[in-house]
Amino acid sequence: MTLPARDRPRGVASRLAPFGTTIFAEMSALAVATGSVNLGQGFPEDPGPALLRSAASAAIEEGDNQYPPGIGVAALLEAVAAHQLAEHGLAYDPAREILVTAGATEAIASAVLGLCEPGDEVVMLEPSYDSYAAVVAMAGAVRVPVRLAYDEAAGRWVLPPGALEAAVTERTRLVLVNSPHNPTGKVLDGDERAEVAGVCCRHDLVCVTDEVYEHLVFDGRRHVPLATLPGMRDRTVTISSAGKSFSVTGWKVGWACAPADLLAGVRSAKQFLTYVTPAPLQRAVAVGLAVTHDLVDPLRDELRANRDLLAKGLAGVGLAVRDAEGTYFLTVDLSPVTGEDGATFCRALPARCGVVAVPCSVFYGDPDGGRSLVRFAFCKRRATIEEAVDRLGRWRP
Ligand SMILES: *Cc1c(COP(=O)(O)O)cnc(C)c1O
Repeated sequence: MTLPARDRPRGVASRLAPFGTTIFAEMSALAVATGSVNLGQGFPEDPGPALLRSAASAAIEEGDNQYPPGIGVAALLEAVAAHQLAEHGLAYDPAREILVTAGATEAIASAVLGLCEPGDEVVMLEPSYDSYAAVVAMAGAVRVPVRLAYDEAAGRWVLPPGALEAAVTERTRLVLVNSPHNPTGKVLDGDERAEVAGVCCRHDLVCVTDEVYEHLVFDGRRHVPLATLPGMRDRTVTISSAGKSFSVTGWKVGWACAPADLLAGVRSAKQFLTYVTPAPLQRAVAVGLAVTHDLVDPLRDELRANRDLLAKGLAGVGLAVRDAEGTYFLTVDLSPVTGEDGATFCRALPARCGVVAVPCSVFYGDPDGGRSLVRFAFCKRRATIEEAVDRLGRWRP
């Protein structure tokens, strides 16, 4: 029971209190304090593509500095529409079916806030990106996790068949999916995509899909948007962002594509969160989207090489590496090396060898979830990954 307002102590509202401050702040501060190599937070070290930087500067200099239209700058809406069509064969009307947001984070928040009533259930994969649980709580909705499992024999993370179906009740409002998946690096395969689509269609559910790593998929695998599956386009909110594709995570320019009735829900929340997204950055992202592959193809190759180097280094000290099929991240299981939980291990690792990582437990709702798992980011300069591998190699568990 919540106490009356006048009787409550000052501070964080009860529905947000469980989330505390994110581990990323703590770990990044620890990295600075100890001079460690920071493979915790997922942001690149390079300054971002020159093409985007000069387009943003030019837009600012030209005076594009006032409120843009609420749905987004026309050039970016059109660029997103052209991108969805060229990449995935998905046609969206830029006037009614696309919304520019303050990063994918705001698109996800707006979808949950704008489409859910209090008490509605949101089914989501677990582990999950840390904002999902918090925004479901802000909406007064209920998080229903579906755990991904690691299949040792297949050597990959899997969505256990039937698990999604079993999580659906008459209160389910949204199915929130993320592929390529943070923190595991998993990419949903054809059977898993069909399972998600089957559940959504059978139960007439709305699917919200976070595809920010759509271009960062390795080893010849392909990202297939859930909206391309039969029956899905008209029940899916597809979310992506410039941050990961173009290595500009500080820009926070994202977008949602959805049929007009669903997009209206997303827009109704977005307009009272940030109202608009910075105009000059939208203009620059439109320039980037027109040459997507010139920017993402070299990035993908660099990331894959970094992943391989890091995976080898981590395996070399005896950790059980769970290789990444996409994204910025890979996970390791500590159990072959130590009985410590991930949080204890990550707090000790800077002093042991000068490397920072994050415990996967922060991506689970229940405190024991992902206990022995740790996530490492490989979206760093080659020299940084080499240094981390070197330091890990000098440490003996
Ligand atoms: C980084 C990330 C986001 C946030 O994207 P922004 O555009 O920076 O808001 C959303 N979802 C996942 C899975 C991410 O890893």
